[in-house]
Amino acid sequence: MMIEHLLKTAVRDIVDFPKPGIIFKDITPILKDPSLCDAILDAFMIRLQDLSIDVVAGIESRGFLFGLMLANKLGVPFVPIRKQGKLPAQTIQQSYALEYGYATMEIHADAFEPGSRVLIHDDLLATGGTVAAASELVKKLKGTIAGYCFIISLDFLNGKEQLLPYSEQLISLIG
Ligand code: 5GP
Repeated sequence: MMIEHLLKTAVRDIVDFPKPGIIFKDITPILKDPSLCDAILDAFMIRLQDLSIDVVAGIESRGFLFGLMLANKLGVPFVPIRKQGKLPAQTIQQSYALEYGYATMEIHADAFEPGSRVLIHDDLLATGGTVAAASELVKKLKGTIAGYCFIISLDFLNGKEQLLPYSEQLISLIG
């Protein structure tokens, strides 16, 4: 309860960003509060303790912030999942539909060993399209999806439905 309250107070609603009609959840105030960052990590650690995670995969770019901290805390590697053209070594790709058009995500081909149990992290779950594409990348490298963790999930957008076929372990600190 405590963490929920602290997060709800910290996260800002930005009206009409990035375009008219969208209310954007701005997480940057969280990053200015070291004790809240610690509390987020502790809340994730409690909820993740039974998932036997080998690797944390974080999604560009806000998924890098807590993704790396979480991997360090778990004592496991962190791997970035990025937009097309950003990762320097050999990659594999997955395209996914946006409201208008398509986007492509990439992961390094040697990101983790086949059979690894991968936790996928992003700051926020909306429609689930981004994380579903990330899940396909993990599957292409023959990883197992140990679960998902988000700071925020926008439950009214039903992103969860897209993720259940990959893993039922879906953690979010506020809905
Ligand atoms: P989805 O693919 O689930 O529709 O969108 C999730 C992706 O868009 C995430 O990478 C997330 O960072 C970003 N995103 C969408 N809406 C918001 C928002 O209101 N706040 C933040 N911080 N990120 C958002």
